[in-house]
Parts: sequence; C-alpha cells; structure tokens
Amino acid sequence: MALNILVVDDSSVVRSVILKSLRLADCDLGTLHEATNGQEGLEVMAQHWIDVAFVDINMPLMDGEEMIRHIRQNPVWADLPIVVVSTEGSETRVERLKQMGARFIHKPFPPEAIRRVVQEITGAKHELNA
Ligand SMILES: [Mg+2]
Repeated sequence: MALNILVVDDSSVVRSVILKSLRLADCDLGTLHEATNGQEGLEVMAQHWIDVAFVDINMPLMDGEEMIRHIRQNPVWADLPIVVVSTEGSETRVERLKQMGARFIHKPFPPEAIRRVVQEITGAKHELNA
C-alpha cells in the first residue's frame, strides 16, 4: 500500500533531506506533503489522508508538540504513526512525546534512520492487519 506522507519542519533543507531519505528508503510512496509549521500541518491533514507524519518540534506559529496534541485529540488521527525529528535534548519532553505515541529521530540523522522507522511502521501495520 502506498504511503501518503506529511513532513512538517520550518527548515526547507531538513524537509528535503527527509523527503530524499524517503525516496531512498525503498518503500511504496504515495503523495508527499510538506508544511512549515504545526498549523499548516493540521490544515494539510484536514484535506488529505496521511499515513505517516514526520514532525519537527521547534517551529513558529505552532510547534510540533502542540500539533501532536491536536492530532491525538481527534479520534480520526488517534492512531496516526508520528515520527518526531528534532534536536530536542530534554528527556522529559521526549518522554512526553513518546507517551503520545510518537517515535523519535535525533537531528542530524543518516538516511538509514528514516528507512528503519518506515520499515518499523509498515511492519507494525502489517502485523495489525494480519
Ligand atoms: Mg525547527
């Protein structure tokens, strides 16, 4: 099944590195969406079905943590796989995000990290459907 992916980061460089890593990841990609902050990300999600979201934490207007809180409050998105991609060093914050069901990749990351997390997510989905 093709994965529709949303990449939310205020840095266009980081967004393109994530998108490039996804293209290298040897997975079935559907539509790739980009947003520059949490608010924009939620607007994309109101209009398009998303299978996996990659979300930065530090962004203007709405940060990643607030965006994830909004996502989890909506029953439609309660189970959306979310991968936080951030330089965040606070263990408490990382722990809070994990409790909201987010996976975590530290910046900077090798393309391999993106591939691994996508495999983990699609593997997990496969198991659920089996
Ligand atoms: Mg940022």
